[in-house]
Amino acid sequence: MLRSLPVPLTTDYLVIGSGVAGLTFALEAAAHGDVVLITKRSADESNTKYAQGGVAAVLSTADSFAAHIADTLTAGAGLCHERTVEIAVKEGPARVRALQDIGARFDLAEGAARGDADLDLHLEGGHSARRVAHAADMTGREVERALLEAVKASPRVRILENHCAVDLITLAKYGGPEVCAGAYVLDEDSGQVVTFLARAVVLASGGAGKVYLYTTNPDVASGDGVAMAYRAGAEIANLEFYQFHPTCLYHPQARRFLLTEAMRGEGAVLRRVDGSAFMKEHDPRGDLAPRDVVARAVDFEMKKTGAEHVLLDITDKKPAFVRDRFPNIYEECLRWGIDITQQPIPVVPAAHFMCGGVTTNFEGRTTIPGLWAIGECASTGLHGANRLASNSLLEGLVFGHRAGVALKDIDRSKPWPEVPEWEVGDATPSDEAVIITQNWDELRRLMWNYVGIVRSNSRLRRAARRIALLQEEIAEYYWKHVVTRDLLELRNIACVAQLVVECAASRRESRGLHFTIDYPDVDPKLARDTVLKRGVPAHGR
Ligand SMILES: Cc1cc2nc3c(=O)[nH]c(=O)nc-3n(C[C@H](O)[C@H](O)[C@H](O)COP(=O)(O)OP(=O)(O)OC[C@H]3O[C@@H](n4cnc5c(N)ncnc54)[C@H](O)[C@@H]3O)c2cc1C
Repeated sequence: MLRSLPVPLTTDYLVIGSGVAGLTFALEAAAHGDVVLITKRSADESNTKYAQGGVAAVLSTADSFAAHIADTLTAGAGLCHERTVEIAVKEGPARVRALQDIGARFDLAEGAARGDADLDLHLEGGHSARRVAHAADMTGREVERALLEAVKASPRVRILENHCAVDLITLAKYGGPEVCAGAYVLDEDSGQVVTFLARAVVLASGGAGKVYLYTTNPDVASGDGVAMAYRAGAEIANLEFYQFHPTCLYHPQARRFLLTEAMRGEGAVLRRVDGSAFMKEHDPRGDLAPRDVVARAVDFEMKKTGAEHVLLDITDKKPAFVRDRFPNIYEECLRWGIDITQQPIPVVPAAHFMCGGVTTNFEGRTTIPGLWAIGECASTGLHGANRLASNSLLEGLVFGHRAGVALKDIDRSKPWPEVPEWEVGDATPSDEAVIITQNWDELRRLMWNYVGIVRSNSRLRRAARRIALLQEEIAEYYWKHVVTRDLLELRNIACVAQLVVECAASRRESRGLHFTIDYPDVDPKLARDTVLKRGVPAHGR
């Protein structure tokens, strides 16, 4: 029997996630109404916090919108939505300035005063001009700090930490119209699942790197937004395009730590564990080949030799140069007992960025009324088949802000709908956490081995079969036990894994980040998105 909650918690805007996208939205929306922002762990824990390079935007007279648009389209390998790219590029500079206005401190060009227009702009791979605004090599931390301080100062935003969204509430499920009216949210401190109702629900839940064994992403990146939106019936697109970074520190205890490609730019060489260099065997440009080519080569060598990692070797350079040029990397590796001036660094590629996600229009609106998606969990069409470096913070800023503006006149006239409270039923506390850890490991490993950088029809088929089995087990466990964050994340990574495989299996070509040995070439006829939703298998559009 469904009981309605006497007093569900209500708000104008319910934001799920406190990275660059969610915070940017909250800041704008707070000018128009009340915001509840829930976040899984501490407010600053997000992919955003770990962004190193910076924000790409046209910020100098030596650059142009046309050039940034052209670079983005080239990286996207024929799948970017041109109007989305144009919006992101043209609105980018104002969003960077807005960040400065709330106190973000980007590095300034030599001689420029604080507040001056003159930013120190980096050049990154794939960009034809200097256009990456940065705060040393910890830009994300500064962006997150500035946004969070501004949001905390707003009396109309309530931030709830350790609150994990479980599922979206759609009225169609209870005989009403197809509208998203809120979310069930696990309050980890009390262990209760709370019902939140909102005039607009905004997914800003970031990426899904935890779907793979190796990832640069923090633990919160388990694809919850995509999985919840899929279960609710929203359209999802282009999940086959997962970007892998070629070189991350491999160490049993260390969090995956990214080793910038600038190291190879400065002469570092990739070697097999026996010490032999291998990049020249894969590409005439050797260690300076583009990111995707290097990631594929490292993957090939690891699969061929069965080694757990390869090596990145910069010991030929003078120690003082290495320490001076890469101080953070030097310190971080030393912390794990690796002196990079004396010994090669064990590295693996790692899942880095989800180019696809929940489909949206130019303002973040999804295919379900009342549900919005912004940032990495959204598929706006900006990245196409491959993301241009530093375009993702830009995406969160531009579309987070746009969604906030678009939602300024929400309709508050309707009474709140009656929805059932979360049913605990006969669920008991989890008694065998080992089932969760076992399934978690199995899923991430099989995604790494079968659905990673290089794919094939048979690997995808194998992955699909195993994921279906694991999902059965997880579902059984889910309905029998009281929900915990671990269980919710496991259910979500299994769902995202299933969707990545479905998207990948339906693309019969190699394009951008999707490479399959069964169709190694680009097929010009397939320059279209892969879309799917619950009950509608993946297809091109
Ligand atoms: C190591 C690294 C370096 C990077 N470098 C760059 C760079 O230089 N430039 C660039 O443009 N991009 C970079 N990126 C990518 C970029 O950081 C991200 O794409 C971007 O920050 C995503 O922002 P977001 O707001 O969409 O999501 P996130 O910043 O990931 O925030 C997601 C939020 O949602 C919360 N959340 C998730 N699920 C739930 C749930 N169920 N309930 C409640 N809360 C939930 C999380 O806790 C988190 O607060 C990098 C990424 C990494 C990992």
